[in-house]
Amino acid sequence: MAELQQTPASLCCCRRPLPVSGAWRLGDPPQVGPESVRRPLVDVASASNFSCFQLRHFHLDLRLNFAVKEMSGWLVLDLIPVHPGVRTLVLDSHCSLLIHSIDCKAPGSGGSGQEEPVSLTYRVDPFTDYGSSLNISLPPAAVRPGRLIQITVRYKTTEGPAIWWLDSELTCGQSRPLVFTQGHSVCNRSFFPCFDTPAVKSTYTATIRVPDGVTVLMSASRSSYSKADRVFQFSMDSPVPSYLVALVAGEMQHVDVGPRSRVWAEPCLLSCAVKKLGGSVERWLGVAEELFGPYLWGRCDIVFLPPSFPIVAMENPCLTFIIASILESSEFLLIDVIHEIAHGWFGNAVTNATWEEMWLSEGLATYAQRRITTEAYGEAFTCLETVVRLDALHRQLRLLGDNNPVSKLQIKFEPGVNPSSLMNLFTYEKGFCFVSYLSQLSGDVRRFDRFLRDFISQFQFKSVVADDLIDYFLCYFPELHDPAHREGLEFERWLNGCGPPPYEPDLSAGGALIRPVQDLCDLWTRSHAPDRSALTTFDLSAWSTFQIVLFLDRMLDHSPLPHDVMLSLSSCYSSLFDGLNAEVQIRWLQMVVRNTFHPDVPRVRAFLHKHTSRMYTVPLYEDLVAGVLKCVAVEIFYQTQRRLHPNLRRTLQQILFQTSSAAANQNSSSLPVPSPPTPPPHPTATATASAATAGTTAAIALRDINVSA
Ligand SMILES: [Zn+2]
Repeated sequence: MAELQQTPASLCCCRRPLPVSGAWRLGDPPQVGPESVRRPLVDVASASNFSCFQLRHFHLDLRLNFAVKEMSGWLVLDLIPVHPGVRTLVLDSHCSLLIHSIDCKAPGSGGSGQEEPVSLTYRVDPFTDYGSSLNISLPPAAVRPGRLIQITVRYKTTEGPAIWWLDSELTCGQSRPLVFTQGHSVCNRSFFPCFDTPAVKSTYTATIRVPDGVTVLMSASRSSYSKADRVFQFSMDSPVPSYLVALVAGEMQHVDVGPRSRVWAEPCLLSCAVKKLGGSVERWLGVAEELFGPYLWGRCDIVFLPPSFPIVAMENPCLTFIIASILESSEFLLIDVIHEIAHGWFGNAVTNATWEEMWLSEGLATYAQRRITTEAYGEAFTCLETVVRLDALHRQLRLLGDNNPVSKLQIKFEPGVNPSSLMNLFTYEKGFCFVSYLSQLSGDVRRFDRFLRDFISQFQFKSVVADDLIDYFLCYFPELHDPAHREGLEFERWLNGCGPPPYEPDLSAGGALIRPVQDLCDLWTRSHAPDRSALTTFDLSAWSTFQIVLFLDRMLDHSPLPHDVMLSLSSCYSSLFDGLNAEVQIRWLQMVVRNTFHPDVPRVRAFLHKHTSRMYTVPLYEDLVAGVLKCVAVEIFYQTQRRLHPNLRRTLQQILFQTSSAAANQNSSSLPVPSPPTPPPHPTATATASAATAGTTAAIALRDINVSA
């Protein structure tokens, strides 16, 4: 049982105004259901009039045609108008969606309602470069507040940002084509017309018709397959926002790795994936449940996707998507899967209501991820991983300057700005620091765990704003109302201030792992010819991946290095790194490129011939182009381009053949977008699906913005 501190609601009110919703008090039962839109929210990233309706449920019925890379069928929306006089339904859509027809019926309405479908007129208007608005005229006779209407949209998809068709050559097995979707943040409007805002959640069902031999998976609680009809049926029984609707279809097989988790992958990857994860998923789920309460989604399956997957991982409920390229880097795989599991509570169960507060998902999930790794692997390991990421945050700040508005947790963006373009390290790490600050204010980390557990219980299946979290926090810890505490509470500075986090957690528990790394950096950077006998006291072959990564990241900060230092580094470590994972290798190769160290350029070539993912190609190509090795990059690109996804190919072409400033200027963001000449090392940096497909421009502007999901 969670400890609940009963506090008079008036205390909250005297401290700061309750949220507009005022929908909860401590001890209230959580209000579960699609009526989760509790306040007049404005989402500038959505063209829809979502606040005029309650979305009860929707159903997708789609046929997948791999030959023409098309999904066709229909969408049925169960809607209840909430205002009188609503005459138009506006949905988010995309120019890649071709609408055939739209009709409406009012089931069971009798009398003045329509039992039979009525054909509706509609109009598609431009909205932004990432979507359009679908304006549907509703029949006045059928539309009454509180009465259900069913809108059926018949449509087909063409190439859009959400849907990634992979020819068989781009899959790991290279025998069958594959398709997956990636909705975050605002891409799913090119998958199906919707209220494409995280403020709206609903249940959904889907019927997916496929050719023989294709397995379909969706982010759904239940599924079934009729072999005779080659039809998959799915049901998501808990309300989710549109961006968490996800599908993958191809030659997929599975192995059960726990009572509620199975690993899915192409057959050639499956045994490796199962070996790497083993029984860990259930163990991590168990730790998370101890901390934050029951896992609400039933299944916790994981599907490994080919290197064309544009990000590292995505927390699609019941079915985490993760890139197969991370399999060889076990420590990163562990962190990424635990992070996605943490989203089961933070982000998926309780969701940021607007994209302007994405930290509510990522900052809380990162905090929860680190609580899980602390419990499962100890504080030292967690502190080391945190130091690697906070280093990256400060590196980014040095590039952007302390006054850059992208460093705010609450970002106000203008209409037209793609929310994906503002997802950055601050969302994750400054958000994490803020949650750590709240934990520290609470006075006890375990007490704060209980707070988070009760927060989830209170707001599960709802979308929240920062005020919901902060007000609940202040009610939960009434002692913070003491005037002695009050001066220290700097929520406004945290949320709306630029620059570094005002507070960072104490990471000294990682000292035994971190100190040798810094000592070795000092040895290499303080003298041109480091003492060989001193070097032998550091056995990198016994170090963890995160230690080596931290070492290389910090050495990268010192680049350019004198040639003789690079020579010594190469003779000491190059062969060792050859045998290690891609996360280590890419950092060493970035050092090679940034220092124009010709003896190891063949290793760069070999790496870029082997790795075809965005996460491992874009940072190296950017470094190659920024220096004098552009001709090497062009050569490798022409040799490998046929093995790259067309979206990545376009991104790399842009890196290779356009100036960075021109590329950056094409970003529609009204905020300053960095394009420094030497990007920092973020080998896990990736671009989002939208960035990757929307003309590829945002992907380039985002080159220093570490985005994983
Ligand atoms: Zn995340």
